[in-house]
Formats: sequence, C-alpha cells, structure tokens
Amino acid sequence: MREQDDDLGKQLEADAAGIVGPDRHDDDIWTPLRKMRHSAAHVMAEAVLGIFPDAKLAIGPPIAEGFYYDFDLPRSLTPDDFAAIEAGMRERIAAKSPFTKRIVSRDEARGFFHDQPYKLELIDDLPPHEQVSFYIDGPFTDLCAGPHVAHTGEIGPFKLMSIAGAYWRGDEKRPMLQRIYATAWENQADLDAHLHRLAEAERRDHRRLGRELDLFSTSEEIGSGLILWHPKGAMVRKQVEDFWKDTHYARGYDLVMTPHIHNGAIFERSGHLQSYKENMYSPMDIDGVDYYIKPMNCPAAITIYNNRTRSYRDLPLRWGELGTVYRYERSGVLHGMLRVRGFTQDDSHIFCTPEQLEDEINGVLDLMDYMMQTFDYTYSAYLSTRPEKYVGTDEVWERATETLRTVLEKRDMAYEVDEGGGVFYGPKIDIKIFDAIGREWQGPTIQCDFNLPERFDMWYIGSDGERHRPVMIHRTVLGSMERFIGGLIEHYAGAFPVWLAPVQAVVIPIADRHHDYARGVVAQLKAAGIRAEANLNDTRMQAKIREGQVQKVPYMLVVGDRDIEAAAVSVRLRSGEDLKSMPVDRFAALAAEVRDRRSMELLPEAMRLQPAD
Ligand SMILES: [Zn+2]
Ligand SMILES: [Zn+2]
Repeated sequence: MREQDDDLGKQLEADAAGIVGPDRHDDDIWTPLRKMRHSAAHVMAEAVLGIFPDAKLAIGPPIAEGFYYDFDLPRSLTPDDFAAIEAGMRERIAAKSPFTKRIVSRDEARGFFHDQPYKLELIDDLPPHEQVSFYIDGPFTDLCAGPHVAHTGEIGPFKLMSIAGAYWRGDEKRPMLQRIYATAWENQADLDAHLHRLAEAERRDHRRLGRELDLFSTSEEIGSGLILWHPKGAMVRKQVEDFWKDTHYARGYDLVMTPHIHNGAIFERSGHLQSYKENMYSPMDIDGVDYYIKPMNCPAAITIYNNRTRSYRDLPLRWGELGTVYRYERSGVLHGMLRVRGFTQDDSHIFCTPEQLEDEINGVLDLMDYMMQTFDYTYSAYLSTRPEKYVGTDEVWERATETLRTVLEKRDMAYEVDEGGGVFYGPKIDIKIFDAIGREWQGPTIQCDFNLPERFDMWYIGSDGERHRPVMIHRTVLGSMERFIGGLIEHYAGAFPVWLAPVQAVVIPIADRHHDYARGVVAQLKAAGIRAEANLNDTRMQAKIREGQVQKVPYMLVVGDRDIEAAAVSVRLRSGEDLKSMPVDRFAALAAEVRDRRSMELLPEAMRLQPAD
C-alpha cells in the first residue's frame, strides 16, 4: 500500500495544482524549434560576453516558448540593455557561423573554462562515463551536449523579454544570477502571434482585472493564497453557484453540507494522513483529539453514505457539495485565484451499482457539456487507463475502463487515451477546456474509485439479498469557485455576460435635475430583478459613460429631459452600440430576456443587427 499511497499523494497534488490540463509536451524531445531556441541561447550568451567580457556563464536551456541564459554579471541588467544585446545577437546571426561539436577531455575542458566557475562545476558534476563536449560557433565556445542548428543563420526572429533573479542550481544558498528570458520563432508571423497572445493574456490577467473591477483581493494581513471576495466578485460567484445548484437539482442530484474540520481518525482511515499529510495543515487539539481542516470532501460524503443501510433500490445516489477545503501550497507557486490555499470545490460523489456506471458517466458528461456551453468554453477529453500499480481486480478495471470508453464513443466525443495515466484507484476522464484565446485550462474530471469503498467498507444490499460494494465516482465540473471564476475573468476579459455581470445596468443622469428620475429608474429595474445602480457623481455624462465602459457594465442608461417625458431611458451597450431611447419597461424586458437565456450577447436575437448582405 505504501507506494500506491505515494502515487495517490502525487496525483492529488497534481490535481490540486493544475492550472492547465494534462501536459503532453515532452521536454526531452529536441524538436527543430527547441534546437533553434537553444542555439539562440548560445548566441545570446555570446552577445552578453561582448558587452561584459568578465561575465560568468551558467546555463542556457530552451523552455516552453523560448529560452533563457543565466549570467553572473558585474552590474544589474535593465531592459535598457536589451537593444545592445539584441544587436550583438543579430550580428552573430548574420555571420551564419556553423555550430561544430568537439569532444574534449575533462582536463582540456577544465583548462578552457578555468575562469568560468559555473562551467567548472558543471564539468566536475558530469557522470564519469559521460563525454564532455564543446559547441563552437565562430569565436564562441560553450560547454554543451547539443544538439544545435547547422549555423547561426538558422536562428529565427527573436526578442528579449525579461530579466529575473535565479539562484544557481535553484539553491537559495548559492549565488543569485541574472536570467534573461527571450523568445524565438520560425518566422516573423509566429513571433508576432506569440507577442499578441502575451499582450492578450496581460490584458485579461484576472489579478489586474480583479483589482480594476473590484472583484477580489488577497491581503498579507489575512494570509497568502486566501481569497477575499468583494461584493461584486461575490455576486458573480453567487450567480455561478446558483446556476450550479439549480442545474444539479434538475439532474437528480441532492446537495449535502459537511463541516470544515474533521477528527483525524477519519483521515487515517481514508489514507490522507499517510499519503497526503504534506498538503494538510497542522492539527488542532480539541479535548485531547487531533482535528484537521479538511483537504477533501470525500470522507464526509462516505460517512453520510455509511450512516444507514443502503439497498440497490436507493442507488444511484448523487451528492453534490460546494465544499471548502484547505491545502498547503508553497508561497512561491501561489497565483491570484488560480493557485490558492483555500478554495471551494464544486464536488460531487456518485454511488452506484456497476450496471449503473454507464448511465451515470453519461449523465455527468451531459451536465458538463451543458455547463461548459453556457460559459462558452469548448473542450476535449482524455481517458486515463490503468497504471502499473493499482488496487482492485483486473476485471473491475477492465469493465470500468471499457464503460468510460463506450460512453465517450457512443457520444462521438473526440478523446485521447492516456495509457497507464489513471490514478491507482480507478480510471478517469479528464476534460480540458479552451478559453477565448485558445489557452488550455484544467476542466471537469470524472474519476472512478475502487479504493475508498474498500477502506470504508461501503456496501449496499443487492437484489440477491447479498452485500455488494458500490462504485464511487468523484467528479467536479468547475474545479473550484476560485480557479473557475479566475479563469472566467480571463475568458471574458472582465466583460461578463449579462447573467453574471455584478452590475447589469448603470443609470446616468445628464444633469442634477435628472437625479430623482434616475433613482426611480433604478428602483423600477431592481423590482424587475435587474441589478442596476445610478451614477450620481459630480462628473460629466461622458465621463460616467466611460466609467461604465471601463467597469464593463453591459448597459448604460442615459436619462435627460426627453427620457423623463417619455418614461424612457437612452440605452448604450458596453460594446459602444447606441440603441436610442426606449421605455423603461421595454428595456427591463429586454435585459431580463438576455439574462434568463444566459446569452453571451447583449441583445435578444430579434434585436441584433443583421449583417449587411
Ligand atoms: Zn548548446
Ligand atoms: Zn471525492
């Protein structure tokens, strides 16, 4: 059990950590792009040496979207240094110097790099059987195993991106080096597209938008990785939670609620204290017994199941819980709402008979599809099969895996198989979702579990009158409120669809004499269930409209003398469209229709401008 438990720990850690879905990239494969980027790193080191002849060189590997090189330099770099370094690199690229490899003896290598302490350390650390090699291009030589492009002229368009401090060998007791991050691509169009993606990601950053739109914050006074939901963020979350609850009730789920702290004995039984303890917070003593803040909701759900004798007639049981859990994350990996220490999972546990598994998985996928469509995400699926170490019989595994496969195939869902990528306790389906700019996020997961029903001796009375183990499914659709809404902020770039927008309409009086009317319109809209407020500040109308646009309020309702006469509002959309004046009740009906349809558009279909023929 020990090693399997360790796998559980790793898997759970990975699940807890994941911002993006399963990473399919193999960093050990030298694609042409990686070879080129690594070659660009040599050329960057060469250009830095040209400017700082005393520079000490560390390492310069390719990374996901570019490359870096670490330097020990006599002074701190700033982005003002980039132009000179880039100019040096362009010179080396224009020279089209061939990269040549030379195998050398350790003595020769040590002699050559006698004034390069980091290279000397690398040479000394090479395993005895390993060859030492240089890569030489023109006047520059680096300690390197390769591979490289044929000559420097093959290096594509590149750009220096940023400077960061990096400890030598990631060890905080060793010297702090300066790392230059850069990117390089096969052609200018790819580089431009990459820079555009970065600018888009920056524009959509949920931490910046969270501040600007007053949605959430974190505070060192409260603690790192703990989210404070401001009124507007809490309103978005309320809408997501209400939608989630209604959808689940409508699809045959019941909701349960369980405490934040549990007696440590239950985490002994579940195995968490053996395999997951490093992710759990220290126990608290209650009357001499250790209690823990829960890192997961499963043990409590199982305890409800085991509260009474279950019959096959009771199954399936589908229990959802918006369960708040706390897990330790290193402070260095915390990231806005995406990596946090406390979060509310949209958890559910399904307990069913083996015969019901297919229908249940289908039901989860239906629900998932409906919710992802509502939020305007596309997705794709992975099926993870039996790993080398596992619990449960081969027959049970085979049957469950085949069931998952059959469901995916019958639905005509595109999926990839992650052979052996399942968790030790059962096969699973992972959904990765794609946001508005094509980035991949970790989406819904559906996991079969053959382990906990054993550990907790769960059973039901079958039609044969005998005891049988139920199948347990753990599943989340959104993941957690924190990560999902953080992702939504980026997906929508802060411009929430009407049903989610914290403020749906802002009423903007043209002059002071219109304030009373504005207040009246707000009251009328609120009565119709529209989240409206009036902007009665001293600023001019145009400034108020701009403010409404910056706050990404879907509807701005300008009111003046003529609107008052007609009991109307002049409607401007956040997209800039001007609908002119319409009666207040007509606007309220329009906004309510868009809201109730959870539309991504701001107008009902009948009112949208038709594209010109
Ligand atoms: Zn190299
Ligand atoms: Zn669970």
